[in-house]
Order: sequence, then structure tokens, then C-alpha cells
Amino acid sequence: MAQKCASIPRLKTTVQDLVPYQPVSSLDDIRRFPLEDEPLKLDWNESTVAPSPRVVERIQGFLANTHHLNWYPDLFSHRLVPLLEEHVGVGAGQVLVTNGSDDALDLLCKTFLDPGDEVVVPRPTYTHFLVFARAQGGSVVSVTSRDPFQQDLPSILAAITRRTKIVYLVSPNNPTGVVYDARDVARVAEAAPQALVVVDEAYHEFCGITAVPAIEDHPNVVVTRTFSKAYGLAGLRIGYAVAHPDVVLAFQRVHNPKGVNVIAQIAAKTALDDQEHLRRFVADVSEAKRLLVAELTALGLPCRSTPANYVNVTVPDPAAFCRALAACNVYVRDRDSLPGMRGVVRITVGTPRQMRVLLDRVRTILGAAASAAEAPRVGIAGAGA
Ligand SMILES: *Cc1c(COP(=O)(O)O)cnc(C)c1O
Repeated sequence: MAQKCASIPRLKTTVQDLVPYQPVSSLDDIRRFPLEDEPLKLDWNESTVAPSPRVVERIQGFLANTHHLNWYPDLFSHRLVPLLEEHVGVGAGQVLVTNGSDDALDLLCKTFLDPGDEVVVPRPTYTHFLVFARAQGGSVVSVTSRDPFQQDLPSILAAITRRTKIVYLVSPNNPTGVVYDARDVARVAEAAPQALVVVDEAYHEFCGITAVPAIEDHPNVVVTRTFSKAYGLAGLRIGYAVAHPDVVLAFQRVHNPKGVNVIAQIAAKTALDDQEHLRRFVADVSEAKRLLVAELTALGLPCRSTPANYVNVTVPDPAAFCRALAACNVYVRDRDSLPGMRGVVRITVGTPRQMRVLLDRVRTILGAAASAAEAPRVGIAGAGA
């Protein structure tokens, strides 16, 4: 922007190089289509279906009581915490509820990072974490591998130094699907006893593998989870961290105890209680994932599955592919610019029915591109593809 800046106070040094998040504005895009034209919002890995119907019922019942919104929520979500501790299988004092799991990631940076501390991050991964780390002055040490779709523990271990304060692992990793189990995480925790080993399990419910057992012998391990993905509550913002009780107490020094709103707390309690709804959605995603990978591959588009609710398809011209799909009210994520991800588009997996609609639209744009390829202007197949 060429606009002259107003004279505001000088930013703190560690945020001077940060830029605001570039929005992927599919909600605005979706509103441009007629209502009967089913949108397929498959760009942010949110659940593609509504949460448990009991969640909406409970919220409506709650709102009927006039004295609920003018009071602050339960501090530290203290009624939800024991339910989560039981659900996860850890002891008292080992769960901290946060305003989305992003809030937990921010909190652990605020609590543990001094300026100049090193933060080891295998990439490509979920980059929002890097903003939290950098804002606290963390120095990001990126670990890249020749094949980002394979776990590369030796390279991660080799990047650890005495200055390492956080190692950030996403499991299953977004977008590659790489998983770190409790034994992998224990090895990292032993190699970096002075560091917090953070395992972001945002997609845990789809995969079942967890690093939580590593916490028992390694108090420097923290696992974060969310209600935004499999539980379908992304709009309400609630997640949690699982850690050694002393680490939870450390987080509480900085954490805003009323940071999680009352509706989110109720929704999470109710969603957690409806495991049948969760199981059904996870089973649907699993079936839909097999269908999608098989059909995209059959269409000549190489496609890799992941243990989470997304797959990675490789196309000749990812930007054009995404644009053509957006014109059909389908939103997917171009990951082409990430290291080792040339040509890759990430697609969130919904139900089998939704994936059949997606495949129909993919066939339509491939067909349009094939006929356009004969004309001088090239479609998504790209020149010489
Ligand atoms: C989506 C996502 C999150 C964000 O979770 P919220 O609980 O909605 O803040 C965190 N980590 C990863 C890896 C994600 O993909």
C-alpha cells in the first residue's frame, strides 16, 4: 500500500516483520452463489457437517435462561476440564481448556519462549504456529526433508541444539499426513530435555494415534487438541492442551481464565458426550477418503491419502485448478508454494455423498479443460501437460 502511515507507536521488535493473515475468503465467495447451488468448502479442514444436534439443542435451552449471558463463563472451564481428563485418560490438573487450540499454541510460546530461543519446526506444516513463536522473539529453525510425505526423525533430532526451547510437531501433520507416535515423541523429548516438545493433534480423532502416553515419563511433552475439526465446532473456538500438572500451572500464570466463552464450553461438553455422532462422521470421512483417492487417481490425478480428513492431489496447474473449482462453488487449498509440494492441492474430505458431488465437478472442469486445450487458450491441463 502506498498510503502514508499514521504515526503510531513503534511496534515491538519481534512483530515488525510479521504481516496480517491473508484471508481465504470462501465464505464471501459462497454467498455469491444461489442457495440451491451446494457449496463444498474444502479448503480449511473444518468438518463438512453440522455438530451433534444435541449441541444446538443445549445452546438453545441455555439461551432461554435470561441470566446466562450477562455472567462471565466458568473460570478455566472448570466443569469441562475433568470430563476431558477422563476422556483423554490423564490425571487431575493435566488439561487446560483454551480459545481454540491456536490459543494453546500462543500461550505456550508466551509462557516458555525468551527472545532468541530456537524453535525447531519440520516443514511444510501448519504455519500459524510460527507467528506465535516469532511474536515472542523465537528464532525458527525449519527442518525440511527430501520427501515431506515421509517421517524424518533423524533430521529433527539433528536440528536440536542447547538453544532449542520448543520442538513443534503436528500429528497427523497438516498438510502431509506424517504421524509421530508416543515413542517418536519420547525420543525427541529425550534429545531436548530443556525444550517443550509440542504435539499438535488437531486431527487426532480421525487417526487415533496419540503422543499423550509420552507425557507420563517426559514432563516436557505437551499435546494440543481442538473441537474445530472432527467435532465440528470451528465457529465457537475451543480446544485444549494436555500436559504435566506443573506445565499446566505454568500456563495458568499467563492464561486468561475467562478466555473461553460460555457457549463454547457448553457445546464442547455436549459434543464430547455424543461420541456416537463423532464415530459416525469419522467413519464417513474414512470411507469418503478411500473413494476420493481412488477416483482422483483414476482420473489421472495422483492423490495421496493421509490419516486425517484431507488428501493431497497433484495437478499440472494448481492455481488454475483451484480457480476452476471455485467457479463451481468448490473451495480447495493450493499448497504448491510449500517446500517439496510442487503441484499439490489439499482437499478436505467430507462425506461420501459430498465427495461424489466434488468428483462430478472435477470431471466437469477436466472435460472443459480438455476441450479448451484444443483452442489457443489453455485450460487447467496447462500447455504441454
Ligand atoms: C486447524 C488447525 C488448528 C487450529 O485449531 P483451532 O482449535 O481452531 O484453533 C491447529 N493446528 C492445526 C495443525 C490445524 O490444522
